[in-house]
Formats: sequence, C-alpha cells, structure tokens
Amino acid sequence: MTDSASRSYSGPGSDPARRLPPVHRVLAEPIWVRPEALAIPPTLRTAAIRQELEALRTRLRAGNDGANPVAEHEIQPDWIAQRAWDRLERGGSQLEVSHPILRPVLNASGVLLHTGLGRAPLAAEAIAAIARTAGTGCDLEFDLVEGRRGERGQRIAALINRLTGAEASLVVNNNAAATILTLGALAKDREVIVSRGQLVEIGGAFRLPEIFEISGARLVEVGTTNKTRLSDYERAITERTAGLLRVHTGNYQIVGFTETVGIAELAELGRSRGIWTIDDIGSGRLNRHLPPGLPQDCEEPTLCGSLQDGADLALCSTDKLLGGPQGGLVVGRADLVERLKRHPLARAFRVDKLTLAALEATLDLIALWGPSAPIPLWRFLSVEPSLIKRSAEALAHAWAAHPGWVVTVEPDRVQVGGGSLPGWELPSWSVVIARERSSSSEVEALAQALRRGTPAVLGRVRRGRLWLNPHGLSESEQVILRDVVAKVAVGDGAELAKPGDSDRHSGFGWTSA
Ligand SMILES: *Cc1c(COP(=O)(O)O)cnc(C)c1O
Repeated sequence: MTDSASRSYSGPGSDPARRLPPVHRVLAEPIWVRPEALAIPPTLRTAAIRQELEALRTRLRAGNDGANPVAEHEIQPDWIAQRAWDRLERGGSQLEVSHPILRPVLNASGVLLHTGLGRAPLAAEAIAAIARTAGTGCDLEFDLVEGRRGERGQRIAALINRLTGAEASLVVNNNAAATILTLGALAKDREVIVSRGQLVEIGGAFRLPEIFEISGARLVEVGTTNKTRLSDYERAITERTAGLLRVHTGNYQIVGFTETVGIAELAELGRSRGIWTIDDIGSGRLNRHLPPGLPQDCEEPTLCGSLQDGADLALCSTDKLLGGPQGGLVVGRADLVERLKRHPLARAFRVDKLTLAALEATLDLIALWGPSAPIPLWRFLSVEPSLIKRSAEALAHAWAAHPGWVVTVEPDRVQVGGGSLPGWELPSWSVVIARERSSSSEVEALAQALRRGTPAVLGRVRRGRLWLNPHGLSESEQVILRDVVAKVAVGDGAELAKPGDSDRHSGFGWTSA
C-alpha cells in the first residue's frame, strides 16, 4: 500500500475497494474460454486477476486525490479480465515466482531433445490419445471380450513386437527403470560383465555402478577405458556369471585408439557359454531407416539390429529417438521378459494409462507411416535446412526495428541431445539478437525476460548474443514465438530489466501495481 493509500483509508465500513467484483466474477468473463486463454493454467489466471484487483484496490483507496483515480469502467469485470489477460500476455514473471507450476516453454535452444524441457514433444495423435483416455476409464488391464481382468500393456506389446521383431516386450517408466528391473530380475547376487569403456553416467544420478548396487547384481568390469576385447569377456566368465551387458555410450565418444566388441560377437560368446547378453541401446532408434534423417554412417545402435545380432534383450528410452512419451522399453526373449514381469519391481516401475495411450499412438503412427510418420522429432531430424532458414527469417522479421539492437539470421548447428548421437550436429539457422554496441548484460536481460514470459522461451546466449533457433519448434510454436518476439520489440525493449533487479520486474511492459 502506498502512503497516500494508507492516509485516505478510514476503515472497512467506508472502504472504496468494496466496489470491486470478486475474483470468481472476473473468472466467469467469456475472455477466459478462448483457446489461448484456456492454455493458461487456472492458478495463473486467478493470480493475474488477483494482481489486477490488488492494483485497483490500492488506487481506489488513494481516492480521487491519488495520482491515478479509478474510472467507473475500470472496475467492471470484463475490463478487469481484459487487463489481467494483458498482464499474462506480457509475461507472468511475478506470477510465476509465486505460483510454481509446470510452465510451457518454447525450445529455441538448439538442442532438439532437451531433457530439462521434457525431451520429445509428442505427435498430435499421441496428445489426442492422452486427452481421450485421461478423463475416463479405459481397458488398461481389462479384457472387454471375456469380461475379466487382462494384462496391462498387452496390445502395445503386440505392436512393439511387430515393429522390432521381438518375441516379447515390456514398457516401464524409463530406461533407467528398465535397467534396474532387468538386472534385479535376471542377475540378483550374480555377476554381469561390462566393458570399462561403457560404465556410463547419464544425467547425474544414473551411474551404472550405482544402478548395479541398487539392483543387487554384481558388476564385473573388463578391459580398459579405450580398449576391450572379446578375450577380456571370455576370461571373466565363471559359474557366477549371469550374463553380458553392452551399454551404448550415448552421451560421449571415445576416439583414437579404441576397440570395442560388437553385440553380434558378444551374443555369440554368451550363447556358447549358456549366458544371456543384454544390449542397452539407449536412444530407441528402431532400425536403419527409423527415425529418418540420421546420417548413413550413423553408429547409433538399433532395436531391430540388436535383436537380429543375437542380443537376448535390448533396452531403450521411448522419449529419445523414438519421439514418444517418457518410457523405457525392454524387447527380446519371451522367457526373460516373463521373469521381468513377475518381479515385484515391475509393479513399481509400471507406466500409467496416459503414457501407454501416448506411446501406443506414437507406435501406431510409426507402424502406419514408417519414416514419414508425423512425429515432431522425426520432422526436425529430416527437415530441409532451407525451411529452417525461412523460419528464422520470419522470426527475424517479427522483431520490429528497435534502436540499439541488431538482428541477423545466421547459420547454426543443432544437437539431437537427450543422450543420443553424441558429437553429431545437424545444419540449421538461427536468429541472432545483439546490441549494436556490445553489452552482454542487456542481452542476458533479454534472454531472461524471454525465459520468464508466458509462454517462456529458452534460447541460448553465446558470446554476448542471443541465439533463437526454431529447428525444434512446430509450425504453431513458431507462430507463437514470432508473436512473443514481436511483443518484445514493441514493448519496453529499451527498459530491459538488469539481471540484478529481475525479481522486481519481468522486463517487458510489466506495469507493476
Ligand atoms: C538415456 C539412457 C539411459 C537412461 O534412460 P532414461 O529413459 O532417461 O531413464 C540409460 N542408458 C542409456 C545408454 C541411455 O542413453
């Protein structure tokens, strides 16, 4: 409350702020049922209205002597709703701080599968499948023909087996879960042999030696970081050995003098000694053609190839190259998959109906369309760079000329990310926004303002310039991004918040109460 407000405020009985409508009255305005408004979470809508009401309350209590007296139309619900909407559109940074909710982010970072942003955007059909299933019952674990309990994921298993040539399959929460379950069910208190060159850490807490500890299987390391030979595995096999594990080094490469054992050789050794061989391929590349757009000499392993080469089980994530929802896939020998299903951890790691619905829809698209399946990530992988250039140009165009700022369209390279295809980049184009005279703090402030807007935009700042890359955005997301960028330009671009005081201002046109 301002000083003048407290002076003129003389008690609840005469509080002029009582003329304001209640929040629910403003929420009932038709503006909130427009699609773009429905996309905003209810808590944010309510918070924006509350802020608008609070601002009016302060002004009403300041009375007509205040610097900014309130006109009658300003306290009408439709007017307040419009103002709250404008507030949301301009960027809800203060709302965001006080309402920690999952916020949509436009991924202009140049990393197509950004784990921090939830990896693969889903296909429209997968989204529709989630929507169809979410608010109602479904035959998740029920046989409608027989009228009795069925098996979870039975239909999707049939689809996966068809696509991969596997005997059997199981879907769990993610590949980390698939690994723990596999080791726990097939190798508890026994030994599993792994090359020292494949003891991966994937994103913080997933470190292979620790996964072994949790599962109860004993890790036997063989070879060296850069070289492991078949004889190394051979010598390590004892009567305590349950199997051999190959792990794809999805987020790093060992180059130079290296030697690794292929899955075919490894599986042959396993078979000759009566032990299984498991291949953690990581990314969920199905075969050499799926997804499309990968380079010819791409060494990323495939589910089909791994099984054909003799792996007893192959494991992968469904939200990496498969382009589906978060999930883990185990495919291969029926007797082994059966042991996984019977393990108590299978229950702990099982997926819910929404994941199954989305994954089923994604796989259905792949089965129907093959390489031209309309899966967003697959589109990004195979899109012509010239189209990306055009998107970048349209984005640059949206940025209205603003004194002191320079916008260019420049060649760029994007990574697939999410722990797949290390070292491989696709040619791309970005919009690069910079200050005429170098001032990286203003560029940082711009990047931050974009991150804190609604929707949030994640670009990357490199050498004092902001890069916005449209490669990982759908057509409609690109339109939204252009909109955001256009507003940045016409807003208070010159008054960008300095990083230090960002908690008080969002930067763009935030007319604080
Ligand atoms: C990504 C990855 C994992 C972990 O998969 P999540 O689905 O993220 O749990 C495990 N192994 C390999 C080889 C990976 O690339």
